[in-house]
Amino acid sequence: MSFLGARVRRFLQQPGTADLTRYQRLIPAIGAREAELADRPDDTFKELARDAQDDAEFCAVGREAARRALGERPFDVQLVGTLVMLQGQIAEMATGEGKTLSGALAAARYALTGRSVQVASVNDYLAQRDAEWMRPVYELLGVTVGHIGQASTPDERREAYAAQVIYAPISEIGFDVLRDRLITDPADLVAAAPDVLLIDEADSVLIDEALVPLVLAGAAAGSDADLEMAEVVRGLRPGLHYESDNEGRNASLTDAGAHAAEQALGGIDIYAADQIDVLTRLNVALHAHALLRRDVDYIVRDGEVRLINASRGRVAELQRWPDGLQAAVEAKEGIAASESGEILDSITVESLVRRYPRVCGMTGTAVTVGDQLRQFYGLEVAVIPPNRPCVREDQPDRLYATAGQKEKAIVAEVAEAHENGRPVLIGTLDIAESERLARRLTAAGLPHVVLNAKNDAQEAAIVAEAGAYGAVTVSTQMAGRGTDIRLGGSGAEPDQVAEHDRVAELGGLYVIGTGRHAASRLDNQLRGRSGRQGDPGGSVFFVSMEDELITSNTPDAPVPRDVAADGRVRDAKADEAVSHAQRVADGANLEIHRNTYRYYELIEQQRAIVLDHRDRLMRGDAALVALGSRCPERFEELDQTVPSDVLADAARKIVLYHLDRGWADHLAVLAEIREGIGLRALGTGALGGGRDPLADFNAEAVKLFTSLLDRVQEESAETFQTAAITEEGVDLDAAGLKRPTATWTYVVQDNPFGTALDRAFRRLARGRTNR
Ligand code: ADP
Ligand code: MG
Repeated sequence: MSFLGARVRRFLQQPGTADLTRYQRLIPAIGAREAELADRPDDTFKELARDAQDDAEFCAVGREAARRALGERPFDVQLVGTLVMLQGQIAEMATGEGKTLSGALAAARYALTGRSVQVASVNDYLAQRDAEWMRPVYELLGVTVGHIGQASTPDERREAYAAQVIYAPISEIGFDVLRDRLITDPADLVAAAPDVLLIDEADSVLIDEALVPLVLAGAAAGSDADLEMAEVVRGLRPGLHYESDNEGRNASLTDAGAHAAEQALGGIDIYAADQIDVLTRLNVALHAHALLRRDVDYIVRDGEVRLINASRGRVAELQRWPDGLQAAVEAKEGIAASESGEILDSITVESLVRRYPRVCGMTGTAVTVGDQLRQFYGLEVAVIPPNRPCVREDQPDRLYATAGQKEKAIVAEVAEAHENGRPVLIGTLDIAESERLARRLTAAGLPHVVLNAKNDAQEAAIVAEAGAYGAVTVSTQMAGRGTDIRLGGSGAEPDQVAEHDRVAELGGLYVIGTGRHAASRLDNQLRGRSGRQGDPGGSVFFVSMEDELITSNTPDAPVPRDVAADGRVRDAKADEAVSHAQRVADGANLEIHRNTYRYYELIEQQRAIVLDHRDRLMRGDAALVALGSRCPERFEELDQTVPSDVLADAARKIVLYHLDRGWADHLAVLAEIREGIGLRALGTGALGGGRDPLADFNAEAVKLFTSLLDRVQEESAETFQTAAITEEGVDLDAAGLKRPTATWTYVVQDNPFGTALDRAFRRLARGRTNR
């Protein structure tokens, strides 16, 4: 075979992945143009790129442009990645294969065919890094590029969105969409219309963070910390007063617990119909008390509760739990309630992505979620083989009976590798574990760097050195960190070659996982940090029967029989517990995704209708026409004294005010219903009778929505009749209709246990399997 070799054949057979042959066929033609293009002067590349007749011709031009601009000639496999993305698919390419460049060439091609491209990066730091790194290539090809981050001003954002290609964190793109929702003058709009979205680390965004709501909130009174309930639940004992399920997602009061709570609350009946509010508060407090663990799910720093992002294992900036839960944890920790505000609008990452007519992406690990990507987004995954075969040695798991024995063994393993100077990267599951391990390493006299909750730029610099001779780096979740780990460290070029070879001779980077993740995909992301570009490397996971993955997903796993003195489990069967636990966790997550998605789907449809309506109101005279025909006398009266453009603007402001107000209220009511239906269904045992909580929810939501638009019209007419409207316009403030004085955005870590409705679903699912 001429090109990618027999390895490709093997990948072609992989079920459920896109066929590479069609792209592979184009590679020889791309190669054939290389010599001729090498002679063209730089200033001809804009034209060459613009005039490229097809994707293959563009790739030939793009390859030569990258070679000139970066000194890196894209490998065949990188161009295959580009072609895959140009077909609207997800390219799976291992870490270190050069996805940044593959993606940039795809983005440039889309831009040159007249499309507007947004590249979703993992964070501010990477958005900026990638935009600047690739800028010389874009410039040679005649494509404009911009980037934004959290700190960008509206003007900077508008300018960046005006570029043909913009790099931005997905959350910032979402926040711009949300903020644009409140604008009353089209000139103030910031975000560009959704067209092409190219997603880096696509599985993190599309699967792990898909259901995270991005929230726009407006100033309002904060919800009070419920100190009373925090005090009540503090006195409750696990097992006696409450029980939590194996998944650690739900806690419920036992009869004894209910009784104790009732006593503490002054002898009320918490299950009485008029005490539903008390019961809800009690449940929220119980969840905060029993299920959210300090230093695992959150940390307390500078007098604030700061969430840990479960899939990234580090402090999630600007994230909070839904309001009640956030306040409950604050009360549990005895700290002041943070400002909460009223939710004006929110959108999930999944809904945001669905707005784009063309979506494509790249990641090191997509194939195991291929079914979900197809089902939820209609995206195919193409698995692209590495440029040079991966020779990393992935060892089988080492299983121990207890967590303590496991940690001891890890330290011994690190010591052995370190003695020779081989760099070690230890991936932990959470921050508490990082710190525990760091203490053990210190006690063993092993110098190391611990990486958690630093800022992204610093982090990147540390990660870049993890491959240096003698380095020991401890880090939580390497997913989506996007930094390349070169053997020998990131030092200056000539030194680097010598350093690289020295470390390569020691076996390359040794990755040690302190526990398997909930999904094998996340394990592979960690392993993939080693063995880049054909380098030698190794990986191993240490696991214990006490690991949460096992205890929560396979509580009935058999007790191992053959255990060595150091705790090492030798039963061949015991190994299966781990993969079984991962399959169980995977299934549960899929079910949750599906249900949550169904819940958001209807809200999303309603939101689209409202937005469409709003846009028409904002851009034309529809508001005045509507109000004028409802209140003809008032219109005649105003028309005498107020210039018509001012009157139209006043009408617009009035209707937009009521529409935005109505939508925020609608969202709040839906959230209450969602919670309420779940509780009702649980309380009456209705689920056993086959009632579907989602159907109940949908019926109520549709009813409410129909009345929403009517109400907006009525309220607008009322304001139009009564508010002071002069040649200066309308004074909404004077009419008591204040828009929020300040807005801010944050990401809601979705209720980790799900809402009451989710819990109802879970029961329903369990009920079904038991039947
Ligand atoms: P990925 O995102 O796939 O993990 P990156 O885009 O971060 O990989 O690139 C990894 C490293 O490989 C970078 O240092 C980059 O400069 C280098 N690189 C990418 N493409 C090439 C190439 N064609 N030739 C040489 N080096 C390359
Ligand atoms: Mg990358």
